[in-house]
Amino acid sequence: MVVQYKCPNCGADMAYDSTSGMLHCDSCGRNDSIESFQKAGSGTDSKTETGTDSFHSHEEHHKEKDRDFHSYDENETAEYHCKNCGAVLITDKNTTATTCSFCGAGVVLADRLSGSMKPAKVIPFTINKQQAQEAFKKWCKKGLLTPKGFMTANRIKSISGLYVPFWLYDLNGQGEADATCTRVRTYPQGDYIYTETSYYHVYRQVNLNYLKVPADASEKMNDELMDKLEPYHYNDLKDFNMPYLAGYLAEKYNYDDKTLFSRVEDRVTDFVDTYIKSTIGGYTTTSYNQKNIRVKEQQADYVLLPVWMVCYDYKQSEHTFAMNGQTGKIVGKPPLSVGKMAAWFTGISAGVFAVLKIIAVLTGGPIL
Ligand SMILES: [Zn+2]
Ligand SMILES: [Zn+2]
Repeated sequence: MVVQYKCPNCGADMAYDSTSGMLHCDSCGRNDSIESFQKAGSGTDSKTETGTDSFHSHEEHHKEKDRDFHSYDENETAEYHCKNCGAVLITDKNTTATTCSFCGAGVVLADRLSGSMKPAKVIPFTINKQQAQEAFKKWCKKGLLTPKGFMTANRIKSISGLYVPFWLYDLNGQGEADATCTRVRTYPQGDYIYTETSYYHVYRQVNLNYLKVPADASEKMNDELMDKLEPYHYNDLKDFNMPYLAGYLAEKYNYDDKTLFSRVEDRVTDFVDTYIKSTIGGYTTTSYNQKNIRVKEQQADYVLLPVWMVCYDYKQSEHTFAMNGQTGKIVGKPPLSVGKMAAWFTGISAGVFAVLKIIAVLTGGPIL
């Protein structure tokens, strides 16, 4: 099911505006608060049929509820059409939000955001496309990139705002360590130098809670790249609402929280280990007789985090740079899986690129 946000004033397409944090109409300037959209993911919170009525209408809610919605099957290839112009939307099976290649409307695929696929929370973009572009240009000018001239020409193939699926885990880590430590003292006495070794039996038991440990749940995104984009500030997490995705790209998760658990388990095991070590100080040597660390999942939330992706063409190969869409932190030259990224960009960004091209032709501006 396709959801498009139409301006109740003028009927133009609305999109999430990262500056105001509201759903915004470019055409007449109307802003709508996103908190007023309830029941995200159920498809009842938006205008889906005639495209011109207010999406706040209560009557509409009942109408939508009574309708029998087709439930989404993961393996099914769904074909979606833009409600503005009827064009087929270019999506791969993981896309949950995209832009119509022909008319540029932001499109949210509601059936892929419902049930177990409904995100619990989202951090909305705070950095807009123009700011992202400027920041990338500035960053490249600093000469942080090699080889020289890498980012000088108009080689940016696409710049896309993407919501990446993550699991945020609350974890409990319990550690128990039993060690034999020594303190060694040397001192001269008479003609001799004495070495005195004292032995200590050290025991530690720790119980630690770690909140909101992230793991990226998208197959296409490089784990290392996503780890480098951290930290996100989780106090800005909002309850998920579909209008946040309007005008952006979004993906659903490929891996569930159980599958990704080992990633955060390893990470938190290291944290617990480091903590235990930090409590055993002042000894000359420490040798562990026994150490057990157990990490348990308390809770995991499916969340969407904002990333600006820049795809850049250089010497017949594609390079990708990413920016944290909340903090502006840039990660470049990551050891990306080139094949996967290329597939992703041709699959999802083709639409966006096509639109930008059309705009550029109309305005005579450079293709960015
Ligand atoms: Zn309007
Ligand atoms: Zn369209």
